Amino acid sequence: MPKGIYTVPYAVNEPIKSYAPGSAERESLQKTYDKMWNDQTEVPMYIGGNEVTTSKKMEINPPHDHKHVAGYFYDGDVDHAKAAIKAALDAREKWASLPWEHRASVFLKAADLAAGPYRDRLNASTMIGQGKSVYQAEIDSACEFTDFLRFNVQYMSEIYEEQPVSDNGIWNRVEYRPLEGFLYAVTPFNFTAIAGNLPTCMALMGNVVVWKPSDKQMLSAGVLMELFKEAGVPDGVINMIQGDPAAITEECFGHPDFAGIHFTGSTSVFKKFWTQIGNNIDVYKTYPRIVGETGGKDFVWAHPSADPRAVATALTRGAFEYQGQKCSAASRSYIPQNIWDEVKEYLISDLKEIKIGSPRDFTNFMNAVISKHSFDKIKGYIERAKENDDTEIIFGGNCDDSKGYFIDPTVILTTNPKYESMEEEIFGPVLTIYVYDDAQWEDSLDLVNETSMYALTGAIFSQDRYVIDLASKKLENAAGNFYINDKPTGAVVGQQPFGGARASGTNDKAGSAQNLLRWVSPRLIKENFVPPTSYKYPFLGADE
Ligand code: NAD
Repeated sequence: MPKGIYTVPYAVNEPIKSYAPGSAERESLQKTYDKMWNDQTEVPMYIGGNEVTTSKKMEINPPHDHKHVAGYFYDGDVDHAKAAIKAALDAREKWASLPWEHRASVFLKAADLAAGPYRDRLNASTMIGQGKSVYQAEIDSACEFTDFLRFNVQYMSEIYEEQPVSDNGIWNRVEYRPLEGFLYAVTPFNFTAIAGNLPTCMALMGNVVVWKPSDKQMLSAGVLMELFKEAGVPDGVINMIQGDPAAITEECFGHPDFAGIHFTGSTSVFKKFWTQIGNNIDVYKTYPRIVGETGGKDFVWAHPSADPRAVATALTRGAFEYQGQKCSAASRSYIPQNIWDEVKEYLISDLKEIKIGSPRDFTNFMNAVISKHSFDKIKGYIERAKENDDTEIIFGGNCDDSKGYFIDPTVILTTNPKYESMEEEIFGPVLTIYVYDDAQWEDSLDLVNETSMYALTGAIFSQDRYVIDLASKKLENAAGNFYINDKPTGAVVGQQPFGGARASGTNDKAGSAQNLLRWVSPRLIKENFVPPTSYKYPFLGADE
């Protein structure tokens, strides 16, 4: 047991490296990238202490060069899910009873590995496997992942410090127990940091985990598992499996010891999960925790007083960085007539400068979208907009998948504020703009609020404080992360805890104590120092 009340190192955000020409980090990362590009890395499943391969060897193809094979991963089946659940449950007793400072040490070490010796491999694998530019990889797989680990350790210790008061003669204590059973993490392709955070934050709180990453993130998932092992995460505490997602999930949800799901991905998948868990409710020993951060249709709204240059910059960065494949990406915008010409001019002149291609060429601001499936879906929205009477493509619109899944940054102008690309998540480099009559600015806020089922991020631009106040009130439930005079992307752990409401998720704010609280079940312990020895209360005495 601990023999001290320890203070954990104070968490600070990992500084972002510049990768400017001539810098040491640029040269080092380029070397690692070139090596990984040719290495043909094999990523096994990790079940208990075993690295498991199968006869189903799957290629890892970079999105910007889909005929190239950068490596392989192995597909498993329901038997691997069964084995992973067993390995997790076998590891539970020892891990759950390990004093908390050792769990903290393991994940603080993981943070230092991610920020140090693993930084290049995390970034290079994210650039190659998920098609991120160097800067997008750095802010994700190096900095955000490291921040999650360090801040979560601090939040864990703050949670443990949260204790009830005690009256005379008694001592009340709360133990933050791990959940009884195993937890299931299902992660998306678009952030290595999310893939790393979902299983680790649950393990940090003493839980054991079955983790199923996206099959489009396997190169960096393999690096994460190696890092966890080197940090000292014991065998069986985080088990990584791959295979048919629906079958694996059904196996996990059908188990009596299933204690919770930590999901990030699309809304439709999460809704399916919720239904499945509800249907199985009589199977479980405990009520499973259900946490999901899902899709978005994130807005940028400008008031007639807004600075057109700031609005245009927020649109370029917010809509097109990482090809619009951030859940927070700006994808619908409402611009007043009085500033539209200027916003359009700045936006189009910025977009004309943007280069698209391989992340290995650092001068490319944009790269390819993740897969053939995404490419076809995004192209469908663009083709329909080309045909529709309510829409005009004012920039981009070209799609070419001959070498990689490349789509130009595309801006659709619409006269119909309820057009499909104003309402539905596209998850690609497509921004739709509706220009409104300046006099109608207040009504346009209702349009923003009522147009989509999502409520993840949103940004308002105005120089007028009364307008900022009114818009903040009217859009209170339209976004879980609300930005004033800033782009709606780029949340930083510890500074802007992230999550949305409505169809965008349970809003349990990744990178906050609130999220960690979902992975513990508090036990209140009341100890009485001198217990009473008679049942009789004074009021039972007879009147004189
Ligand atoms: P996705 O829903 O296709 O996949 C997410 C995960 O779910 C993957 O591991 C996938 O294999 C698994 N999955 C897919 N279908 C499944 C099924 N039928 N049964 C079980 N598992 C299944 O999402 P994606 O394309 O990887 O990621 C993009 C989505 O994630 C977007 O909708 C985006 O908005 C969302 N996202 C949200 C946040 C957030 O914080 N709100 C962050 C990142 C991504």
